[in-house]
Amino acid sequence: MRTAVFSTKSYDKEFFEKANTDHAHEFVYFESSLKDKTVQLAEGFDAVCVFVNDTLSKEVIESLAKIGIKLIVLRCAGFNNVDIEAACKNSIKVLRVPAYSPTSVAEHAVALILTLNRKTHKAYNRVREGNFSIERLTGFELSGKTVGIIGTGRIGSAFARIMNGFGCSILAYDKHQHKTLEDMGVCYCSLNELFKHSDIISLHCPLTPETHHLINKESLSLMKKGVMLINTSRGKLIDTEAIIKSLKDGQLGYFGADVYEQEENLFFKDLSEIIILDDKISRLMTFPNVLFTAHQAFFTDVALTEIAQTTLQNLSDFEKGEINVQNQVCIDMIK
Ligand code: NAD
Repeated sequence: MRTAVFSTKSYDKEFFEKANTDHAHEFVYFESSLKDKTVQLAEGFDAVCVFVNDTLSKEVIESLAKIGIKLIVLRCAGFNNVDIEAACKNSIKVLRVPAYSPTSVAEHAVALILTLNRKTHKAYNRVREGNFSIERLTGFELSGKTVGIIGTGRIGSAFARIMNGFGCSILAYDKHQHKTLEDMGVCYCSLNELFKHSDIISLHCPLTPETHHLINKESLSLMKKGVMLINTSRGKLIDTEAIIKSLKDGQLGYFGADVYEQEENLFFKDLSEIIILDDKISRLMTFPNVLFTAHQAFFTDVALTEIAQTTLQNLSDFEKGEINVQNQVCIDMIK
């Protein structure tokens, strides 16, 4: 299929071209993201391929329909950036990669926890500069701590298994409870109980109207003083201003995030020579107990291979009229 690939990075091209030896799709790669100003680039194509920070609003989708686009393939799991209702109304199918190495994201959440806790990023800099002092690098032992997991789907479950291996007690909140996790000792509870009893809280639920700003002033006030909060899911699950205040008050002890509320203006770009105009992230980066990565939790060889293979298979299936329903995003998934 002739497909316009938006927000392309070198690794997208590399893994797509490798996977395309099993298919015969024609890709044109655009570095720019898909948004109202760039939608015309999709003219003459059958499908568009997008990532997490492309903006597929109602207006963009209506424009895509007008220029004959029949399919949106997401090379990611989350689909909060696509107006699904508008896609349905305009008869554009939306296919995604629902599962690609959930371990990659789960392991990155653990990396954030270990780095924040044992301060290896600071130790690395100190030692390289000949400073072998270990003053103020004290950490805590994970064994015996209570970890709260919000959302125990594929990534949350993988994360639960790792933290179980560290000897943590695990509390979980999800609309659906997983028996295999309960058998492992995971204890499902209410959201408020999870907030109250957890030493570390990790977010693994999708961004929906219901989960928008799930972490806010009120929920932060219910948490243990000094709690560690990890977000590898979506930035808008968190009210950033409330996080800044809570860090200043000392209520929030550590904050590790791979995602950010306004990340579309920042992440995946080299802005090192530019003045950052986003005052919230700039303030957050001044805290010694905050660690940011720029949406790289998925970024492993296994995940990139699986993303490319599933995306190309989605295109081939659509071409043959044999959509894999498990990969299709439909209207009842947002209700
Ligand atoms: P999943 O669909 O397998 O699991 C999501 C879980 O969240 C489900 O069990 C669901 O029941 C639960 N859930 C839904 N609404 C909820 C609510 N209101 N409260 C609590 N739980 C709720 O998805 P997944 O593959 O585990 O991915 C989870 C999220 O991780 C994605 O939505 C995406 O936002 C994020 N993600 C981030 C990266 C990254 O690189 N940082 C990569 C992939 C996915």
